[in-house]
Amino acid sequence: MPSLKVLKFGGSSLKTGDSMRQVAGIICAEKEKKAVVLSAVSGVTEMLVQFISLTRSEGDVDAFMKRITKVHTDLVDEALSSVRYSTQAKEELVAKLVKLERMLYGSSYIEEVNPRIRDYVQCFGERLSVIILAALLNEMGTPARAVDADELGIITDGEYGTAMVNMEATRSIIRPKLLKVLQEGETPVITGFFGRAPEGSVTVFGRNGSDYSASAVANAMGASSLEIWKDVDGFMSVDPKIVPSAKPIPQLTYDEAAELAYFGAKVVHPMTMEPARSGNIEIRVRNVFRPEAPGTIIRGAGKNGDIGIKSISCMKNLSLVKVFGEGTGYKLGVLADIASLLREAEINIYSVVTSLTCIALLVDKSDVAKAQKVLTEGGVTRMETHAHFALMCIVGEGLGSHKGLASRVFKAVAKEGVNVGLISAGASLVAYHFTVDEADLEKATRAVHEELFGC
Ligand code: ASP
Ligand code: MG
Repeated sequence: MPSLKVLKFGGSSLKTGDSMRQVAGIICAEKEKKAVVLSAVSGVTEMLVQFISLTRSEGDVDAFMKRITKVHTDLVDEALSSVRYSTQAKEELVAKLVKLERMLYGSSYIEEVNPRIRDYVQCFGERLSVIILAALLNEMGTPARAVDADELGIITDGEYGTAMVNMEATRSIIRPKLLKVLQEGETPVITGFFGRAPEGSVTVFGRNGSDYSASAVANAMGASSLEIWKDVDGFMSVDPKIVPSAKPIPQLTYDEAAELAYFGAKVVHPMTMEPARSGNIEIRVRNVFRPEAPGTIIRGAGKNGDIGIKSISCMKNLSLVKVFGEGTGYKLGVLADIASLLREAEINIYSVVTSLTCIALLVDKSDVAKAQKVLTEGGVTRMETHAHFALMCIVGEGLGSHKGLASRVFKAVAKEGVNVGLISAGASLVAYHFTVDEADLEKATRAVHEELFGC
């Protein structure tokens, strides 16, 4: 097979007619064979998520359908100039929107929203955005075809809200289909964010999951590279909103990028690195609005392991839940019991530290009340919660073996009079993280960045 690139574009690059044309220009200029993966138009997934968070009246549905239709037909008018392609795109949009409308009426009539309905509704943003971009590419002379991931055959494990791709099943189904599209001289424009369970129901990969979709497509196709096009230059040494002198990071390993993404750097979805890593596919993060910027390359560690601290990421809105009990650390299965209670309540544990008398868990602030309830119901008698925590994560290959690094970080934090809470080191060889009071986060971040990067 000739080499194939997978290009993924995020919603903020699809927001206006101008930015859509910019995206189409990048695709048309790519001489290699390519497959494109798209997010929904900026703000559309949020609209869908909000709308389907409650049961709605018929009137609500009508008003919502008007709004979502207008967003997309306006974009067609802004982005396309030929009557032929705009008319066709609008007809295709209407056909998709009818399906959404029927599902929303259905949910309204039976007064029910369940995980299956939620996932089905949330993925409509992508089903609509691919129609517009494919039409624009056709208008610009690059033959393209809008492809829905469930029809194509991106197969998931069936977990609503946080599905994962079944890579083997997906590869065997989508590879021949996409090869056929490419052989027919067309560029597939594929919906990101979701796939279908083996029995057919639509399941989403979690917010920002289109990056993960693109990586799965790249793996399935044995792509030569995966380009993730965004509205920022790539990964930075720290959030530039906190430290304006933050530096761009030219290169990261898969592990470093995954840890940074998981602990707050919202550049790519944390799961993106897995299919790319297992296919040994290089990821390039690039900026649609500054294509001349080098961006960040993500690949396997070189022979020398690319040793060095690359970046600091931060996460706010966390809380600590401490579960006490005599000999907690001794008893078999306590941690598993707590984890499964929280799992059933769909609460994610970001970090956990145990001692003889206490298990401390870091969870999202918005999950604390639910965590307290399920743990109490599950038999926990003594518990403390601490709100307003933030987490700092320091990432770099070789961190696990870097002498003196921890003391530099903690001295810098202590000099600012900031107290460090939970510390986790050693679980990952490329990352360690610790908590600080949310009010101290910016101060501590600036101090650590200054210590490690000199600015
Ligand atoms: N549209 C989805 C979201 O906003 C997926 C994505 O953008 O990657 O989360
Ligand atoms: Mg997005």
